[in-house]
Amino acid sequence: METLTDTRVSRARSDYAALLRSRGLRVTPQRIVILDAIAGAHDHFSAEDIHSAIADDNPGINLSTVYRTLETFERHHLVRRTDLGLNRIVYHWSGRAPHHHLVCHACGRIIEIDDDALQALTRELERRYGFHADLQHQSVFGHCANCLNHQEDEERLPNDKP
Ligand SMILES: [Zn+2]
Ligand SMILES: [Zn+2]
Repeated sequence: METLTDTRVSRARSDYAALLRSRGLRVTPQRIVILDAIAGAHDHFSAEDIHSAIADDNPGINLSTVYRTLETFERHHLVRRTDLGLNRIVYHWSGRAPHHHLVCHACGRIIEIDDDALQALTRELERRYGFHADLQHQSVFGHCANCLNHQEDEERLPNDKP
């Protein structure tokens, strides 16, 4: 007899299979497991995050399989990647609203910004270079307002010498 849980799981699995096929991807058990972990992630995730989420139940899926699968998913627009610095490639599920990140070199703070914040740049690249930029999930590095204010305070401080 099928329990409620079984129904839910099997429906999800067939949904994932359909999603993979709709992106021209072959359906494999590993891809289904990884897709399930991704769809359950609320925020950004790295390959390591996904691997540790699934490792206990799926000892046969190693970290390099997760890396390769995420790269494949990215090429097929199931996830969007960005580099937040510190050798951290992170992804978000493509169903999430488009956005970008500002990353502070000094304190490591990461600020999420709306997609339209880069529209002026996109327009300018089009106007000046005839280049149609496809800006998705960008990370812009610099210094946050907090750190800049701090810096100015320090510059204003009198030095210790009498
Ligand atoms: Zn993001
Ligand atoms: Zn900062």
